Amino acid sequence: MDNWSRDASLAHWNTFGVASRAEFAARVTSVDELENLLAQLNERGLPLTILGGGSNVILRARVPGCVARVDIPGIDVEPIDDGARVTVGAGVRWHDLVRYCLGQGLYGIENLALIPGRVGAAPMQNIGAYGSELADCFDSLTAYSTDTGVSARFERDACEFAYRDSVFKRRPELVITSVSLRLSRTWSERSDYPGLNEMLKQRGGPRSPTRLAEAVIALRRYKLPDARQHGNAGSFFKNPTLPNARFVELRAADPGLPGFETATGIKIPAARLIELCGWKGRQLGAVGVWHRQPLVLINLGGATGRDLLNVADQIKADVAQRFAVDLELEPRVLGVD
Ligand SMILES: Cc1cc2nc3c(=O)[nH]c(=O)nc-3n(C[C@H](O)[C@H](O)[C@H](O)COP(=O)(O)OP(=O)(O)OC[C@H]3O[C@@H](n4cnc5c(N)ncnc54)[C@H](O)[C@@H]3O)c2cc1C
Repeated sequence: MDNWSRDASLAHWNTFGVASRAEFAARVTSVDELENLLAQLNERGLPLTILGGGSNVILRARVPGCVARVDIPGIDVEPIDDGARVTVGAGVRWHDLVRYCLGQGLYGIENLALIPGRVGAAPMQNIGAYGSELADCFDSLTAYSTDTGVSARFERDACEFAYRDSVFKRRPELVITSVSLRLSRTWSERSDYPGLNEMLKQRGGPRSPTRLAEAVIALRRYKLPDARQHGNAGSFFKNPTLPNARFVELRAADPGLPGFETATGIKIPAARLIELCGWKGRQLGAVGVWHRQPLVLINLGGATGRDLLNVADQIKADVAQRFAVDLELEPRVLGVD
């Protein structure tokens, strides 16, 4: 247990910056280290909680057992067809991967520039932004089962990717250790997401994957708070998907309400519902609702996980009362109070 910290502060292991403590904390940089750690935890009957960059979690005051951050490194490029299969260690920072691939002339993830966190967490909620999601260029991943002690490969279908969802949310025993993407040397521009094309035009110059990534970064820097200044976890709520008839009713009351057709119904922006309930820019104790994007809650200083969840409950109640729409949290809640 020499490489473990006892009674460890997790304040720097979550981008909300909320105070939380773990009985033990450790970093694992290989599958062997993960196996080793598990053997020791099993001997002592301690549970394991996995973290990447902590940018999609709400930590309660205490996390029992051991919190392990997956720091497995490595990027391996194997040429295939008109591109490459890129296999990446779960601990690599997602945005570092985006930059690396652009530098190698490999395209497909440039719309996902500047999403915080690690590659190992990207499949968890099938990260997505600006008209693109991980599933678009996903090849396979390797996950280690803490139940069986065996590593297995998961092809795309087995991952059950959906909007901010995958099978891994329902299988906490699986630790993702590497992810493979299929990227192309031929770029197909995806800039039809609202605001992106305008940003590209405004910035001028010829279109290229790098310029698109820069436009995405500029939009994100304008819209979202910098977690180093205002602790946050990006979107706090998922965008709800409604049956067509319900969408038509809501649109009758709010003709400007946008709707995006999906396989399961019409997806609408939760931000608009939250704004119409008067929450945009509001502050409640140490919790704020970001003035440029009301989907984002921020830690104004000293907020706890419980404070964040209390404000989220009030927002959910207001949206449910006014629109009869249930908002679902996007970040995972870990630990106990
Ligand atoms: C400013 C900001 C903007 C954001 N924008 C976006 C966005 O545009 N689109 C988007 O989809 N998300 C966005 N997010 C959310 C977040 O960045 C992503 O979900 C990211 O993939 C989380 O990575 P992480 O390493 O920080 O995961 P963590 O927060 O550490 O973990 C998230 C969950 O995954 C589990 N987990 C982590 N690593 C592993 C692993 N190796 N194996 C198994 N389980 C694991 C954890 O137990 C936890 O349940 C944003 C967050 C912030 C702060």
